[in-house]
Amino acid sequence: MGTRRIFLKRAGFSTLALSLPFAETLSAMNFERDDKILRVAIMGLGSYGTRVAEAMVNCQRAKLVGVISGTPSKVETWKQKYGIPDKNCYHYDNFDQIKDNPDIDAVYVITPNSLHKPYSIRVAKAGKHVICEKPMALNAAEGQEMVAACKAAGVHLLVGYRMHFEAKTQEVVRQQRAGEFGETLFFQGLSGFRIGDPTQWRLNYELAGGGSMMDIGIYSINGARYMLGEEPTWVTAQEVKTDPVKFKENVDETITFQMGFPSGAVASCLSTYSLNNLDKFFLNGTKGFAEMQPSTGYGPIKAWTNKGPVEAEHITHQTTQMDEMAAIILDGKKPMIPVDGEEGLKDLVIIDAIYKAVKTGEKVMIS
Ligand code: NDP
Repeated sequence: MGTRRIFLKRAGFSTLALSLPFAETLSAMNFERDDKILRVAIMGLGSYGTRVAEAMVNCQRAKLVGVISGTPSKVETWKQKYGIPDKNCYHYDNFDQIKDNPDIDAVYVITPNSLHKPYSIRVAKAGKHVICEKPMALNAAEGQEMVAACKAAGVHLLVGYRMHFEAKTQEVVRQQRAGEFGETLFFQGLSGFRIGDPTQWRLNYELAGGGSMMDIGIYSINGARYMLGEEPTWVTAQEVKTDPVKFKENVDETITFQMGFPSGAVASCLSTYSLNNLDKFFLNGTKGFAEMQPSTGYGPIKAWTNKGPVEAEHITHQTTQMDEMAAIILDGKKPMIPVDGEEGLKDLVIIDAIYKAVKTGEKVMIS
């Protein structure tokens, strides 16, 4: 499909509906870009899948072309809303057939956590690129299987780390890498929200693989790594549970954890399902500091340093993420902060260590 037709379709116009001069003006403004589009099927049409689909309407390089869902009524709605043809609609039992569909390049897995690994591996075996939500899997062993399966299939494995493409986050990371804060020796990450419905999958160990740490604490782990630019060598962690009925065995309500890094930097973090408005990163160095609050919500993100506010336009995170992921897959672009399977695996290794530290009460070394 030519660039011109793509733009017109995205803009919701038919060629006939446009007067020629207006169409030519649009052409001059918008049609120079490359015609390469990543054609994506979303698996799991829930709350976040819906958000991603809405954000993709404004993408330049990624397009929603298919769905994989267990709920026929949602499929009908999405077909109407996004113009998805029947031949691009699958359910969990038959989506392996996607291998015979040349119109889908990638599948974005947005299901409960425990389904990430089995579904991602099936997608890879069908020869399609995998984009998988965080946490990439339930533990590092599962994550390794996913990385190996995608490598064997020759497909990309990317993780939905939308903050890695967010402009203010990238500017703070740029300043840190440029040494503008001096030696960064302390990071604080506070990640939490107050969870509602006790029957939801996030509080079901079989589907979630844990509690707040898997869902929201992972942002502080991941943030510590990209803000400090190092990988931790040890963790310590402590769990607090005020409601053992709601937060059953192995479903953590609140965990405080600490990480130590090769440079001598330390991170002190909180992951919780019991507090709202807890979304803050603080980075302190020998020459300056950066603070972000909110730091990982849907935005706008607010960031400032010892020199003043960090200014950047707010763009819907998932729109930028999907365009950048298209560039990674189609052009081989290297993102400023990685989003590949190895990156997802690093967070899972740390999560494993944190849970072990909670259970044993001991400092856990990470090799
Ligand atoms: P939801 O419960 O809203 O949606 C999950 C969807 O998965 C369901 O609607 C359903 O879609 C499908 N599904 C398949 N099997 C099951 C099952 N056994 N039980 C429940 N649902 C099932 O969850 P979210 O959309 O909030 O979260 C999905 C994933 O996205 C999680 O891994 C979460 O961590 C991640 N996430 C990431 C965010 C980010 O900012 N990066 C933000 C929020 C979530 P269908 O009916 O179509 O089959």
